[in-house]
Amino acid sequence: MTTPSYFRPCIERMAGYVPGRQPRGRDYVKLNANENPFPPSPKVAEALHEAVNSVLRLYPDAMATELREKIAQLHGLSADNVLVGNGSDDLLTMILRSFVGEGEGVAAPRPTYPLYEVLVEIQNGTMQWVDFPPDFSLPAGLADTGAKVTFVANPNSPSGTWVEPEAVAELAGRLDGILVVDEAYVDFAHGDCVSLVGRCPNVIVLRTFSKSFSLAGLRLGYGLASPEIIEGMVKVKDSYNVNRFAIAAGVAALGDIEYMRANVATIRAERSRVASALSEMGFAVLPSHTNFVAARCTVPTAKALGAGLEERGFLIRTFGDPRLDDWVRISMGTPEQNGVLLAEIQRLVEAQRP
Ligand code: PMP
Repeated sequence: MTTPSYFRPCIERMAGYVPGRQPRGRDYVKLNANENPFPPSPKVAEALHEAVNSVLRLYPDAMATELREKIAQLHGLSADNVLVGNGSDDLLTMILRSFVGEGEGVAAPRPTYPLYEVLVEIQNGTMQWVDFPPDFSLPAGLADTGAKVTFVANPNSPSGTWVEPEAVAELAGRLDGILVVDEAYVDFAHGDCVSLVGRCPNVIVLRTFSKSFSLAGLRLGYGLASPEIIEGMVKVKDSYNVNRFAIAAGVAALGDIEYMRANVATIRAERSRVASALSEMGFAVLPSHTNFVAARCTVPTAKALGAGLEERGFLIRTFGDPRLDDWVRISMGTPEQNGVLLAEIQRLVEAQRP
């Protein structure tokens, strides 16, 4: 007997998002999902302990008002410019559900964050990829797709590259649809596009606590946009999409922003060190504005490098997409971890030399 499919055809067709691998049974140094190697601020742990004693039997504040006020303060905006979510992935889902109907287009430069396409497939929309040029500047055709939503991750993943805010502002002005500027990695860059929120009615800026704030396990992100856009998206969100722990932790993390900035400074310094060392070993390294480095390798191949490092206890990111066959993406670990990693890479490179 063949089981009939109960799924919508677009769900039947799609493959689904594949998160960074989390193999069990060994204590790997995880450098494959752009997580932060440092723990979150000690203030977060204190806030979480206190939150255990909060009224967990009651739902959290559906609008997370205290947290939104703190976020607004940080950016010089007002709380009605802010919407929080269960990770910025949750905001991405809300955006697709709010603005993209069946058959409608969503554009993004490629390669970028693969979840965008998965969410478009769930909506039964049409993904309109526009390839990045070799220098990873914004592709000229991106303004001409007619898409309902255009995504620009800035800095981008997996390339780590950065587009100047003026170029993003110019794109926003040329688009009829929504422009989402995904700033998941922006704390590791210099500059951001938050000022576009007041100037461009079609811009949504996304941020996350997962990277610079070391809170990937907590799931907390936010969107910044005009009050009209935020108000519309509130209709789409899950009623209580951010729990009491996440609200408390987010408020505490923002209250200790110097801690985050100190970790970011260390990670930036490590990024320069790792990038130079990889260049010296013969890898082509893209300029990174993030907490990871993208490198192209031929000897050994990217897959062989990934497998060789995994044997030695390090997980890095390799790609199924044939366009990225030669590339690896390595998240920055602690200085000690990066030192061992570089020695292991050196060993694998030398083993391949004739
Ligand atoms: N945007 C980009 C570009 C990312 O790389 C990631 C992390 N995988 C996210 C958004 C999602 O982050 P979060 O943990 O906030 O859902």
